[in-house]
Amino acid sequence: MATACKLIDPDSNERLRWQSEKLPFNAFGASLRRQFGGRIQRVSIDAGFTCPNVDGAVARGGCNFCDNRSFSPSRRVRLKQVSEQLATGIETVTQRYDKVAGFIAYFQPATNTYAPVEQLEEVFRLSLSISDRVVGLAVGTRPDCVPESVLELLERLSQETYVSLEFGMQTIHEPGLRWMNRAHDHASMINAIDRSRGRGFECCSHVILGIPGETHAMMMETAVEIGRLGFDAIKLHNLYAVEGTPLGDQVKSGEITLIEREEYIHTVVDFLERIPPEVIVERVSGDAPPNFLIEPKWCLEKSSLRLAIEQEFKRRGTRQGSHYTAPDILPHLRPRPADETPEAIRAQIDLRRRLPVLKMEQK
Ligand code: SF4
Repeated sequence: MATACKLIDPDSNERLRWQSEKLPFNAFGASLRRQFGGRIQRVSIDAGFTCPNVDGAVARGGCNFCDNRSFSPSRRVRLKQVSEQLATGIETVTQRYDKVAGFIAYFQPATNTYAPVEQLEEVFRLSLSISDRVVGLAVGTRPDCVPESVLELLERLSQETYVSLEFGMQTIHEPGLRWMNRAHDHASMINAIDRSRGRGFECCSHVILGIPGETHAMMMETAVEIGRLGFDAIKLHNLYAVEGTPLGDQVKSGEITLIEREEYIHTVVDFLERIPPEVIVERVSGDAPPNFLIEPKWCLEKSSLRLAIEQEFKRRGTRQGSHYTAPDILPHLRPRPADETPEAIRAQIDLRRRLPVLKMEQK
């Protein structure tokens, strides 16, 4: 597939260049600029996937923070074609920002590797073919949903274009995973990353800070695990509550209180100080549309939050990786284990019919 925007040597010391630019951490936007030579924007695509934590393959109900009511068949019927979503998204972004050099097709809602691999290939290649300004793919998924066939597909695609695989890890601690109703354990994450690393695509970890019951020390243990397991990138999120979710109800009733802004800022800086300097920091906070967000409202002020995090680094005189210690076994020396994808997930993937959005593309 042709790309107007060329990927510039992502394996070189480019990943440490942020240090000579006097930045406090290896920020995603700047990293993409270095890799592609210009501003890159992600365009979100809903390909009509569901989730094994919703449809019963591993559990029902989904995570307590996720509004998965929209994963119903009726929503999938209402979806626009992938090609139309991407074209509209590109147009919107182009109107909003000057000089966008390229776009990443971001498969964001639900579990975007939960479909037969031939259909995944079809939908991923379709998105790459919409415009020569689409420079790559980002694919959000769960740790228990990457069988070998999916990883082999992403490996093939990454030989042609930029690919990022984003895992919802959230925390390494089992009580937190259970509280969120994730329906996978941390061993699943270790199995997935140990099979994914070194295949040519980026492995990103999505982590939530402020899970009830997690102490500061526990969150720092999650930070250390990022370096131990060798993730290429990280997305940090404060726990936030949106309408229509079990967490939303708990926050409204006062049963759960969420992390305060000042504590979050300090925790993010502590966290980033403990991860390797090469890791790309894709996000330092989470947010949701204002009319959908219950609490905390402070996360809507993304720019001031980012500035406050940068100022905290400055005040301390530290930066990402300042307190990182390399593990005894470096990530690239960890053995690749056998595939432990649950049979219930494999079975559902094999049984699933053609994706509704792809059916529409055939019209
Ligand atoms: S695994 Fe992801 S898509 Fe599935 S319910 Fe949880 S947050 Fe939602």
